[in-house]
Amino acid sequence: MEPKYEIVIIGAGPAGLAAAIYAGRARRKTVVLEKGIPGGQILLTDWIENYPGFPDGIAPFELMEKFRQQAEKFGAEFKRDEVKSISRAGRGWKVKGHEDEYDTKAVIIAAGSIYRHLGVKGEVELTGKGVSYCATCDGAFFKDKVVGVVGGGDNALEEALFLTKFAQKVYLIHRRNKFRGIKILQERVLANSKIEVLWNSVVKEIVGQKRLEKIILYNRQNQLESELRLDGLFISIGMDPNTEFLRGILELNEYGEIKVSFQMQTSQPGLFAAGDVTDACPKQVATASGSGVAAALAVEEYLSRLE
Ligand code: NAP
Repeated sequence: MEPKYEIVIIGAGPAGLAAAIYAGRARRKTVVLEKGIPGGQILLTDWIENYPGFPDGIAPFELMEKFRQQAEKFGAEFKRDEVKSISRAGRGWKVKGHEDEYDTKAVIIAAGSIYRHLGVKGEVELTGKGVSYCATCDGAFFKDKVVGVVGGGDNALEEALFLTKFAQKVYLIHRRNKFRGIKILQERVLANSKIEVLWNSVVKEIVGQKRLEKIILYNRQNQLESELRLDGLFISIGMDPNTEFLRGILELNEYGEIKVSFQMQTSQPGLFAAGDVTDACPKQVATASGSGVAAALAVEEYLSRLE
């Protein structure tokens, strides 16, 4: 018996939605599974001004809703479900969710990744209101402002350096007295007069009424608390790809990201991946969309070969 679907897309962020537009337009019976609301991590940002085609910028929700409508227009079906596992079923795959099971010829995994959170008071409430997880996305909103970056890895160091293009002052807040990031980035950070490193410091609380106003810091060395007034706070303490349900099925790299070829093919035939969940995609809406398109085109070629 033929599987019910030709393509199951896991995740309705930019990668999954862009893939769904192409899969639907190729007249493939496609279902998009999403556990939350369509849009993905970009919904944590309050404005996008680097997505091509929108010179005045666009609200992430509006952009993602346009993606979703376009996919629906071309026939992609949407279901709210959280995927638990994927297993072989004949020449295709069975995707098991909380709610249902989906037999399909091919799968595009676009499950995204989640920014690690500090888990402190005020973080959730002020996200998108001064608190951000992506300097490339939001840095330009902080021209001549005072911002903080939390973290000591490559990403935090790169984000701090990037933010000096806009902000008048960047505090780099790290919980230890030594960076984890590579030496060359450390040297650049320490040589940059706009960056002040606050060593041995942890953020205890993020405070603000309508927008971020200040943070409460705790110094682990002298055990003192202090306040720091900030216009922006960039939390850059790593990302976790949503790949737990794929362990043992697919080849992942040391960070848990799915290894893909340049055609977004994973280590298993019929399983493709796109966007932040892969080891091959800068964490941007435009690149995630592009990789979703590439995955859908590769699936089309794969299905044509099967037929
Ligand atoms: P990462 O290397 O895991 O660093 C995370 C940083 O956040 C560490 O300094 C860690 O502190 C800190 N941290 C973690 N949890 C924290 C918490 N709850 N509170 C405060 N601080 C916390 O993550 P990443 O910088 O996002 O990089 C991820 C991977 O991508 C790395 O392998 C990195 O090399 C790579 N990357 C490479 C480049 C590049 O090559 N240009 C650029 C970006 C990222 P501790 O140091 O104390 O553990």
